[in-house]
Amino acid sequence: MPTYKVAIVGAGPAGYFTAQAFQKAQKDDLLFAIDMIERLPTPWGLVRSGVAPDHPKIKTVSKVFEKIAKEPNFRLFANVELGKDVSLKDLRDQYDVVVLATGASMGRKLGIPGEELKNSLSAAQFVPWYNAHPDYVDVEVDLSSNTAVVIGAGNVAMDVARILAIDPNELDPTDVAEHALIKLKQSNIRTVIICGRRGPEHAAFTAPELRDLPKLENTDVFIDPKQIEEAIKHIEEMDDVEKDLKNNIEAMKTIAEHEKKGVPKKLEIKFLSTPLEIKGNGRAEEVVFQKNKVVNGKVVATSETFSVKTGLVITAIGYNSIEYSGISIENGRITNIAGHVEHNVYAVGWAKRGPTGVIGTNKSDSNDVVNLIIENLKEPKTSEGITGLLKSGHEVIDQLAWEKINASEVISGEIAGKPRVKEVDWDRLVKLGISN
Ligand code: NAP
Repeated sequence: MPTYKVAIVGAGPAGYFTAQAFQKAQKDDLLFAIDMIERLPTPWGLVRSGVAPDHPKIKTVSKVFEKIAKEPNFRLFANVELGKDVSLKDLRDQYDVVVLATGASMGRKLGIPGEELKNSLSAAQFVPWYNAHPDYVDVEVDLSSNTAVVIGAGNVAMDVARILAIDPNELDPTDVAEHALIKLKQSNIRTVIICGRRGPEHAAFTAPELRDLPKLENTDVFIDPKQIEEAIKHIEEMDDVEKDLKNNIEAMKTIAEHEKKGVPKKLEIKFLSTPLEIKGNGRAEEVVFQKNKVVNGKVVATSETFSVKTGLVITAIGYNSIEYSGISIENGRITNIAGHVEHNVYAVGWAKRGPTGVIGTNKSDSNDVVNLIIENLKEPKTSEGITGLLKSGHEVIDQLAWEKINASEVISGEIAGKPRVKEVDWDRLVKLGISN
């Protein structure tokens, strides 16, 4: 019976949903042996290091990942880095199919003066910092000022702003990184301002996330009701209004009109504001914005500017994929046609389509790519797979080792009243996994 060897690089949602699609496509005469390769010593990608700690429900998808991993045709090779421990060429030679599910981990840049100042960070640094990603433990996050500015009007900007604006005690029962919780408890930040360059009708937030904001117990959330009124007028002039947009505006109207509690912590969403410059003497101290207006559905600049004094600027304007030798990047994602990269190499998830969609989006997306892969399959190779590629003694975190790490974190969590206490040190993670 033909068994095709599949290497999936990247153990995030797109990688797991791709493995699941292969598992579902198996028939008596079409079998797959799946090796999932992951750079970190831990799997789950953004479910572990991206999803906000105060959104535990979203993380329950990890149960689906563990079910996929328990199938007999699945093996995990974590702590194995593409480009360092194995090359793409080797994978291409050894496997019938290579699927790059490597995501998009580099924060996009504004390209404005002052962006490189201290305490001007990207969400691509700040989010993994509070989520205990081993590479971001040492990110310098200074929370000593009164006001933080978050640039971008998407769900990542909202996650970042919420984490800064809620009472840190609300994070006690979560899996937020211990180092971040300590810092957040000492934070002086009282006002967080999210700045979107276009209007409320163009915001990339989604309605469920917006609807959660008025429920925050210790934070007042503000949107200028005039900006919402304007947006409603613009929507009324549109021929066709999508349901998602209607829901978004409704949720923002509720926020604008919601009675404020008079608590010290404030989160404001400000629209029609394009950042022009971050000013400061060695560190971010002020952001200068240009005011925009909407004319005939288009956002145009006015001659007016305003500035916000701040000690922390976080940019959340999307992500780009990192480059691997032999793979080209176009518009921040791996160059591909419907997931096909070249020869037997494919891309899925954010690496394929850019940083769009929620976790579930990856399911249908991975299914489509796996269908294309199956159409393109040739005779299976007779090759060794990954085993011959790794140096002897390489400390692979396999599924069993990961389960040890997972159990250890969950047990620590039980004692602390949290879902888990994440280990942040790379070497200790490996030790936890491979110790007896
Ligand atoms: P996003 O949804 O694409 O939002 C990016 C925001 O950045 C947009 O408001 C965009 O404005 C703005 N932006 C881009 N370039 C800019 C610039 N040069 N200056 C100022 N603003 C700029 O990206 P994201 O927030 O990173 O989220 C990525 C994906 O993950 C999204 O699909 C999101 O829904 C998903 N996600 C979901 C959840 C959840 O379900 N809870 C949580 C986090 C992330 P323009 O529209 O004007 O370009």
